Amino acid sequence: MTTTINDILNRKPLDAQVYDRSDLEKTSGCPFEAKAIRDGKVKDVSMLADVGIEGHRLLAESLESVDENYLDLVDYLENELPTARPDIQPEVIKSLRGATEELRKIDPGRIIGIEKQYSTEFLKATRNHGAIVLTCCQDLLLAGKDETVVILFDWKTGYKRRTSTDAQSDFQTCFYSWILFRELPKVQTIHFFYEQTRYGTRAYAKLERERDYYNFEGRIQETVRLRMEDSNEAWPGMEKCCWCCVTAICPHVVGEALELNKDKEGYLNQYIALKARVAAIERGMKAHCKKHGEIRSGNQVFGYKETKKIVSYKLYVDKPDKTNNEDE
Ligand code: SF4
Repeated sequence: MTTTINDILNRKPLDAQVYDRSDLEKTSGCPFEAKAIRDGKVKDVSMLADVGIEGHRLLAESLESVDENYLDLVDYLENELPTARPDIQPEVIKSLRGATEELRKIDPGRIIGIEKQYSTEFLKATRNHGAIVLTCCQDLLLAGKDETVVILFDWKTGYKRRTSTDAQSDFQTCFYSWILFRELPKVQTIHFFYEQTRYGTRAYAKLERERDYYNFEGRIQETVRLRMEDSNEAWPGMEKCCWCCVTAICPHVVGEALELNKDKEGYLNQYIALKARVAAIERGMKAHCKKHGEIRSGNQVFGYKETKKIVSYKLYVDKPDKTNNEDE
């Protein structure tokens, strides 16, 4: 049957696809992991993730339960903390106590949003796919000195300790900031703070529309492309694989990471035993050196280099003497 122009005009648009930050962040790190989670092959569960979810649930509940008065919200939240899920309640209290103290210091007049969902259409619907909508929930957004500046706070309850350099390059920073630049066209500068509640520290990044917008857009565009293709490319790396929840079923996992995730206690015991063995080997070689001199294997030498007065035995690479070479 031939397709008429009316068929095309009357065609029902495909449903929009909504991509959230967490899925895209995983896709940007290793698409294989993100897809395995989406396909339900593994569950990305951990006690700390549950603490985060529970904390955000209480915050959202507080928002719904009080009217405009912001300090009532903080009071409500503090009162509600003890009612958190009992198995993780102490961790939830620990992670949100600092946050409520910070909230008290803030001038309520500057609050633009708490737990505010921002969504933006990244790609329009075509014949092949529905509109691609990106979405994220931002913890606390404040007005800056004027309408060109905003301040964004994100509470992190986990063990990851970001430096300000990490904060600048995190996918979350890129994603949240790009959405804000897009949704708030007058904003030129974003001051982004990660509040690391476990440590009482913060990591900071300053984002500028002129410098960062298109770089962020490019990173998001490539990530969205991988997501739309449902890519299962794998990008292994020790840092990533060591805390990935997919290691048990991933054929690309770095060997050391697989061993670590299979049996953490055993892995630590192995490390302790290896350290003890290395220490014993070193002691033996030092004793040997004292009587017979250095031990060589190619240009690797265990011995000592004469410094001024200190004699310290260690492994070093024997490099040709520059002065002798120049003389030749
Ligand atoms: S184990 Fe490594 S390679 Fe495999 S999905 Fe996880 S991060 Fe990617």
